[in-house]
Amino acid sequence: AEEPITDLLDRLAAVVPDYPSPGISFKDLTPVFADAAGLKRIVDEVIAPFAGEYDVIAGLEARGFVLAAAGAYAAGTGMVTLRKKGKLPREVHAEEYLLEYGTATLELHQDDIAPGSRVLILDDVLATGGTVGAAVRLIERAGGVVAGVGVILELDGLGGRSRLAPHRVHTLQRV
Ligand code: AMP
Repeated sequence: AEEPITDLLDRLAAVVPDYPSPGISFKDLTPVFADAAGLKRIVDEVIAPFAGEYDVIAGLEARGFVLAAAGAYAAGTGMVTLRKKGKLPREVHAEEYLLEYGTATLELHQDDIAPGSRVLILDDVLATGGTVGAAVRLIERAGGVVAGVGVILELDGLGGRSRLAPHRVHTLQRV
């Protein structure tokens, strides 16, 4: 029988205590990306519930790019990059969001999303939902419709899922 996805993630994902600062338990999915079966499983399973409901996949810099590019290739859609401030060369929409200390800005090219296009947002980890929340606002400002949000790991107790309501959020494991 196929290994349950939560067992696969427990086996392959690395947890790094006190990174990048004391008290943070960092969930490192790079060993899952590096594993042939692991990468295929997480990409297939994170996009599966949204089949037929999206026209393009948006990835959040940087680990979301891995998932979004692989998912878009598998689904036969295009892929859009949501990037940190100052990386995109043409006209952008910009949205600020709160970090633990201070703020950060996410940007999207103004013409990367066709009007009315249904967009699936992918990232590796959902914590407070601040980052994905900025992604939602950017996509809507660019004329897109958010089809849903897919993440590999959801950190419980940080309010990410409720912050993103009413958008559909699909996660492979809650930790
Ligand atoms: P948030 O905006 O609070 O939902 O944070 C989500 C973003 O920060 C994602 O892009 C994650 O990659 C990253 N992140 C936040 N907390 C963690 C964590 N404990 N382990 C790994 N990545 C994290």
